[in-house]
Amino acid sequence: MKRSEVDKEKLSPGMRQYYDIKEEYKEELLFYRLGDFYELFFEDGEIASRELELTLTSKNAGLEERVPMCGVPFHSVKPYIEKLVNKGYKVAICEQLEDPKNAKGMVKRGVVEVISKGSIVDSDLLNEHDHNYIASVLDFSFTYVLCYADISTGTLNVMNVQHNKEKLLNEILNLKIKEVLLKDNTDVELISTLKGNYGIEVSISDGFLEEGIEKLLNTVEDIRFKEGIKHILYYLIVRELKSIDHIKSVNVINSDDYLEMDVHTIRNLELVETLRLKERMYSLLWLLDKTKTSMGSRKLKEYLIHPLKDKKRIEERFDKITVLNNEFILKDRLRDALYEVYDIERLCGKVACGSLNARDLLQLKNSLKVLPTIKEIVSELKFDYEINTHNELYELLERGIYEEPPVTLKEGYLIKEGYNEELDELKSIRSGGKNFIAEFENKLKESTGIKNLKVGYTRVFGYFIEVSKGQVKEISPDLNWERRQTLANAERFISPELKEKEALILNAEEKIIELEYNLFNEIKEQVKQVLISLKDTAEILSELDALASLAVCAEEYGFVRPTLNENHTIDIKDGFHPVIMKVSSEAFVPNDCCMNEQISTLLITGPNMSGKSTYMRQLAIIVIMAQMGSFVPAKSANLPIIDKIFTRIGASDDLVSGESTFMVEMNEAKNALVNATENSLVLFDELGRGTATYDGMSLAYAILEYVNEHIKCKTLFSTHYHELTALEREIPSIKNIHVSAYEEDGKITFLHKIKNGAVDKSYGIHVAKLAGMPKEVTDRATTILASYEQKKEKNSSNDKVQLSMQFEEPKQEDPIQKFLNGVDPVYMTPIEAINTLYELKKLMSDSKKM
Ligand code: ADP
Ligand code: MG
Repeated sequence: MKRSEVDKEKLSPGMRQYYDIKEEYKEELLFYRLGDFYELFFEDGEIASRELELTLTSKNAGLEERVPMCGVPFHSVKPYIEKLVNKGYKVAICEQLEDPKNAKGMVKRGVVEVISKGSIVDSDLLNEHDHNYIASVLDFSFTYVLCYADISTGTLNVMNVQHNKEKLLNEILNLKIKEVLLKDNTDVELISTLKGNYGIEVSISDGFLEEGIEKLLNTVEDIRFKEGIKHILYYLIVRELKSIDHIKSVNVINSDDYLEMDVHTIRNLELVETLRLKERMYSLLWLLDKTKTSMGSRKLKEYLIHPLKDKKRIEERFDKITVLNNEFILKDRLRDALYEVYDIERLCGKVACGSLNARDLLQLKNSLKVLPTIKEIVSELKFDYEINTHNELYELLERGIYEEPPVTLKEGYLIKEGYNEELDELKSIRSGGKNFIAEFENKLKESTGIKNLKVGYTRVFGYFIEVSKGQVKEISPDLNWERRQTLANAERFISPELKEKEALILNAEEKIIELEYNLFNEIKEQVKQVLISLKDTAEILSELDALASLAVCAEEYGFVRPTLNENHTIDIKDGFHPVIMKVSSEAFVPNDCCMNEQISTLLITGPNMSGKSTYMRQLAIIVIMAQMGSFVPAKSANLPIIDKIFTRIGASDDLVSGESTFMVEMNEAKNALVNATENSLVLFDELGRGTATYDGMSLAYAILEYVNEHIKCKTLFSTHYHELTALEREIPSIKNIHVSAYEEDGKITFLHKIKNGAVDKSYGIHVAKLAGMPKEVTDRATTILASYEQKKEKNSSNDKVQLSMQFEEPKQEDPIQKFLNGVDPVYMTPIEAINTLYELKKLMSDSKKM
């Protein structure tokens, strides 16, 4: 049964209330609180029952047909919500807004929170090492404004992105944004890319929050940034009913401040996850992350994907690492103290808008406990951090919060004894019920003189004073006793005092729970008052943790403090690839990398498997590590400050976005050529390999010329086209190097050592042998090679002539035919096939234009 087809007027009053609320939350799955359950009705019920594997039942809603319904007990709702949100649904939680006991008529209900992928606050779904970002994208014709927030930690950032879809996508992917808000759904292409290719949630929201956020808005100047903030906060506050008490200001991210890396680079260099398995393990971040807190771990990742360009800021980090390693005892003490610190940022998020429980406050307390120690260490280290130790808050929590509280807030046992008089009294009444009876009985016996008087309790009649019939006359009317029950030979009474106590004792339990809950909320309010300053503390701790982690790595892996120069010189002695060095069972061979001001390209040749790709990656990693403020894997390193890194390495087929290898390759290369400056670093690994030999070689040749004539950026270019090595003589800024190997008795040994000059053999057949190719094949290949080489020798008396011959008269090939030659339908995925078709159509129209 569809809700939209239901006649609202025919619904029972209860369901009409549901209907009205659901009207406001059509897109979301509405969890509708009815007593001890959250119920989902109509289509929501069907979806929930299917996705959560729960039984679909039905409810009489006043209609002829019963309405589909699916329910979840309220106390175990969390995992169900998480599961649905993880699957891309949005969940709206509708609560009873008043106590049913006090309600006149229908209990008031309303949605108290909406949860979507990008706005989870307290959940086991949140990865402690990652931010959980939601972002608004606004299109201002010449620029995009990207405003992104992590509501679980209370961070709000805003930045300009060049008006270029690729760059926009890049930022979204680099930041691992989970949900993107767009003003409308007109950009079909962007929406389908985000959703279809990358599984990013897209929500359409056209509201802008105009009021109540002046303070935040005042922290930025750019009017477009203000719009972005209004847009994202409308969604979070109005639509999803989140509190942003823990967001203190807006960070304006100026991409010019950071070393620019596109998503391919971050992937190719395996900075945060490995290429193949997409796992953190064996990535650079995995190696460097020796942080003690989740906050520090997230900070370190931020350092890594946003390396700096400002020499002063970079050197400040170097300085701190130096100090930490000189003062290693303090460093150890610092790390020990940090170990005691919980995720204060996310705790702040919970205080502001999550379901905070007493255990969370205990975590906060235990985190605050070590602040004085950390403050002392920081001052001994002479670091310029102002740490607020939050003594008052610590004492409040220490006095207030019970040490072993339950997870829920409705069972009591949250508040310590001695914190609140009324509570203590209630507790003594609760536990003292029995004592009280005995004491009270004795008191009465004395005051009335009735010796066989008894005080007791029954479930039905409550507390009573029992007096035998014969002695009833002894009771003075002044006492105001009321008769409660008459027995065969006794009467039972209740006195005003007993009545009061009775009420107290019977209600004590209930009152305790309520009072504890209120006291807890009061404490929570007090934490709220200092959220902003707590977040400052969290920020400092995360930096300390990240820097200490880098210091530990520097020591443990033998990294060195680099020097930064301003004269375009790269001079690395004994550089190594830190991850391979750590993981590989074989000894790693360190290598130098020297490029003075005059040299902009190193052309690398060498057999397959000799280490060309590794050498290139290693240089990029050294540059990135230096600019993130870390020491670097080398004996010594003198480096320029790089503004952008581009990489075209290996066969990282972009399977998700469905582009073919060669297309990806050209796309990445194009990015580099268009965007690189003379301060950039470009890595081209066997560029042109994805197409026919001459085709690829011509491209490589032209690209090398272009890079050296127009861009003059530092470039590492590995190739198996030996013909290219002749370029060294033509273009002075190109230098040949090679990775050495030696051959003995038809066997090849890789030395992995970089040497000057070019090699002229590619040893492909040897690698084939290594791979266990049938001997017949390799023998035959050796014969064929020999005959080729003979021919080549006959033809060429001079390298240069040969080169120009090859390049002077390129055949005028039909571009479509050329394209088709490079296409192999057998290995195509359907998406690749479609892309190929598009490409063909484009070529057709291009060639008509010519
Ligand atoms: P290429 O790009 O020349 O084919 P790779 O860079 O992919 O070679 O390296 C091939 C293998 O050699 C890899 O397994 C890598 O771990 C190893 N290797 C590369 N460089 C070194 C080195 N300097 N020392 C030790 N092993 C290395
Ligand atoms: Mg390689």
